[in-house]
Amino acid sequence: MSNITANDHRKVVHMGDEARAATTQVDLLLAGGWLITMNSRREIYRDGAVAVAGSKIVAVGARSEIIERYRARRTIDTSSMVTTPGLVNGHRHLLCCPKGAMPEGGQTLSALREFIYPCFASLTAEQMHTYALHATAEMIRFGTTSFEEPGCNHLDAVLEALAHSGIRCRVGPWTWDQRGAAGDTDLPDWLALDTDAALERLRRGIDTVRAFGNPLIRDAVTIEGVGTCSDELTLGAAKLAQESDSLFVLHKATSEREVALELEAFGERPLQHMHSIGALNEHVLLNHMTSLEDFEVDLVAESGARISQNPSSALKLAKGTTQTGKWPELLAAGVPMALGTDAENVSNHQDICRSMQLAALLPRDARRDPAAVSAEQALEMATVTGAKALRLDDVTGAIEVGKEADITCFSTDDFDWRPLHNPVANLVYGATGHSAHTVIVAGQLLLDAKRLTRVDEGELRQAVQKIDEQVLATIGIEPLPAWPVL
Ligand SMILES: [Zn+2]
Repeated sequence: MSNITANDHRKVVHMGDEARAATTQVDLLLAGGWLITMNSRREIYRDGAVAVAGSKIVAVGARSEIIERYRARRTIDTSSMVTTPGLVNGHRHLLCCPKGAMPEGGQTLSALREFIYPCFASLTAEQMHTYALHATAEMIRFGTTSFEEPGCNHLDAVLEALAHSGIRCRVGPWTWDQRGAAGDTDLPDWLALDTDAALERLRRGIDTVRAFGNPLIRDAVTIEGVGTCSDELTLGAAKLAQESDSLFVLHKATSEREVALELEAFGERPLQHMHSIGALNEHVLLNHMTSLEDFEVDLVAESGARISQNPSSALKLAKGTTQTGKWPELLAAGVPMALGTDAENVSNHQDICRSMQLAALLPRDARRDPAAVSAEQALEMATVTGAKALRLDDVTGAIEVGKEADITCFSTDDFDWRPLHNPVANLVYGATGHSAHTVIVAGQLLLDAKRLTRVDEGELRQAVQKIDEQVLATIGIEPLPAWPVL
């Protein structure tokens, strides 16, 4: 527990002249409380502090030492908080669709075809802009500072919204050629592209993101997968990501149904087939991966590919993650793994704390092994390893000198955090992202005392409610509870 006293606190904010003479001016100090650095030694300070200058972390250490050496334009008293690297969401679609409106009973392929694709297809650029603002606001509110967008429409509008939000991300355009193992017949005629046009869209996506020139926004080569893309497109995208030093992002091994379709079409399971065509390498981020065999774990590990696990999405869509998922094996093999929340309706939340809890607990029950995945591994997936999965670990994922200042401070002044002895256990098993109090990206304060600094939350909620109603009217769905509504 922090042993900070009232006198110590005054010292942080009002240092004497003698101390000032020996100190360095910085922009921001986070002073006091538990500090979980996630550095290479995984050091945790009981009473830590972080100094930030511009976008960078310039000092990390015991509070007593840091406040002697630095004075700041603003000091935030974090003595009753737990400070961690900003959380990473490895799979979050900005192509939202009305939250809570997806009809019950859908599994991966049917939910996509009957609800999610029609919602995506109905969005205008202006609506997409608003949804992107809302989705990023929600992530920031729950402690997320970086995420991967696995393929969006209206990329220009999305880039404007991302820049406004201040969040860090990778993003690329929604792309498919509708020539995969699942066949063409039941896909909507939305953004129908032949393979060459799809590859050109991906190239232009990289150019567009790079020309936009926001240092927080990196490009991704994004195809849908899930049996909707040809081998030519998959391989072309993989090569493009390698040549351009980007990240090739696709949905893979998302369900037993997808595995069955690929076995029927190619005589190989999805990962086996990606390996066979030469599309599996260290520039690949595979989303979902809920249905694997042991030999596919080896293929992924040997290739250097990365993964996003989406536990709440897997559960809601009945993917079989507890039976056919290989999470402990993938972690043991050293595969960089992020946690994600997927699209709006397949998690109904964007809280990586809840994802950590599921990622730590589900494999234990599945294997009857309380050591299957540890709380520490769950926090690694949500921070330092997640950043590696997104190829963002050169700048984010840990609180250490030289990294960008992407930091989340969780208030512990509530029942879910107290009593507090082991902050990793409290964070992974007990807390929700609602306790995020302060969120900083590249030194910018995006959440200040639980208030978003860059958007008007009320206005945004009203705007999204209106768009939801328009989308639902367009696709002809009236979502209501199963019980009588009077
Ligand atoms: Zn997805």
